[in-house]
Amino acid sequence: MKIVIIGGGASGMAAALAASENPNTEVLLLERQARLGRKLLSTGNGRCNLSNLHAAQGGYHGGQSGFVQPALDAFGPERTLEWFRGLGLFTVAEPSGRVYPYSDQANSVLDVLRFALDRPNIRVLTGVEATALEKRDDFFLVHTPSASYSCQRLIVACGGAAGEKLGGSRSGYRLLASLGHEISPVFPSLVQLRSGWSGLAALKGVRANCAAAILRDGKTVASGSGELQFTQYGLSGPVIFDLSRDACQGPGAWTCRLDFLPHISREALVDALVARKSTNLPCDELLTGILHNRLGRVLVKSAGLSGTAPIAGLDSRALAQVVRQVKALRVDLTGKLGMDAAQVTAGGALTSEFSPETMESRRIPGLFACGEVLDVDGDCGGYNLQWAWSSGILAGTWAGRSGK
Ligand SMILES: Cc1cc2nc3c(=O)[nH]c(=O)nc-3n(C[C@H](O)[C@H](O)[C@H](O)COP(=O)(O)OP(=O)(O)OC[C@H]3O[C@@H](n4cnc5c(N)ncnc54)[C@H](O)[C@@H]3O)c2cc1C
Repeated sequence: MKIVIIGGGASGMAAALAASENPNTEVLLLERQARLGRKLLSTGNGRCNLSNLHAAQGGYHGGQSGFVQPALDAFGPERTLEWFRGLGLFTVAEPSGRVYPYSDQANSVLDVLRFALDRPNIRVLTGVEATALEKRDDFFLVHTPSASYSCQRLIVACGGAAGEKLGGSRSGYRLLASLGHEISPVFPSLVQLRSGWSGLAALKGVRANCAAAILRDGKTVASGSGELQFTQYGLSGPVIFDLSRDACQGPGAWTCRLDFLPHISREALVDALVARKSTNLPCDELLTGILHNRLGRVLVKSAGLSGTAPIAGLDSRALAQVVRQVKALRVDLTGKLGMDAAQVTAGGALTSEFSPETMESRRIPGLFACGEVLDVDGDCGGYNLQWAWSSGILAGTWAGRSGK
């Protein structure tokens, strides 16, 4: 039986390996870029955060968040790591549950996949883009600029639009839509937020742990905690990535509220600041030893204090103002960066039109989809690649079944 897989990224490679387990299948893997798995090399800042031990339904979003569970039950993090071990990859898990290759190099993940794809019943064609699909009676035709390929089973593993410079594209949505599948609006997720806050220029590159909340017209729409990073144009870091899905979607006044000392009460912070009044230090040092020095100085300034004024002269109103900046800083948000900067695409092919047990289309038997092209996006921390492996293995396994 002939199977064509469109897209040689994480989910497409996993699908090809799973489908080829049936020796009666002939698998053709088409990749439009010059090499397989280009995006994979840039994941996890070059370290590839390939899974998360805690991956479960709660870490995923989309039209039907429960859609991911059968795939995670069938092929969750534990089985994925065993599978990779079988391919020759050693991995290590951080206390947070994030899993990386032991080598700390993303290319180790790609290399073991590439080596494994060297099987007699898998053919890989790179630099070949599927441009159109046709469904004939009991087979599909996959058209490319140079040739057309027929197959009984077709797997669309084209990924999403995120990471445009690494190969992200809308091609998979177009191909699935051409066969009658509905695509929900796509938008960037796990992406930095833009702000015009005046403190940013002095804080570029500073990292801080915090509790963060996204507010629309003063109402909280999402909250979380973790590491934040200031950039020259706004806010970044894991906590911002996770909140970015819900931020700046639609009109309204968007702000981010930041608590840089979530585990310390306002009263305890006031006590610590009052203790500083017995020193000869200037206000610039009011938060020294408590927060990153640069952040402390910017917060003092945004509280309306002069950095050179003596701490000893501060009254309780001034101290309360500083505490407000530390525990509830409001940073205006002007939008988010685009698909080129995003790590994942929210939205995509409606999951209600696919079986969560097999990834097969409910509209067109023999057609499968897996990975980011579906309306599934995960939290930061290995959830998206875990989805690519789980859904890719499922699609490949079921597409390869009953092959003669
Ligand atoms: C910078 C960055 C860092 C990331 N870091 C992490 C991380 O550390 N952990 C994590 O879990 N997730 C991470 N992600 C997200 C993760 O990489 C993706 O969710 C995952 O790769 C999706 O897998 P996929 O197979 O669906 O798509 P992709 O891996 O994008 O693969 C799709 C492939 O299909 C090809 N293609 C598309 N259309 C066609 C066509 N018409 N014909 C032929 N080929 C086609 C593309 O060129 C591409 O190679 C990161 C993403 C980015 C952009």
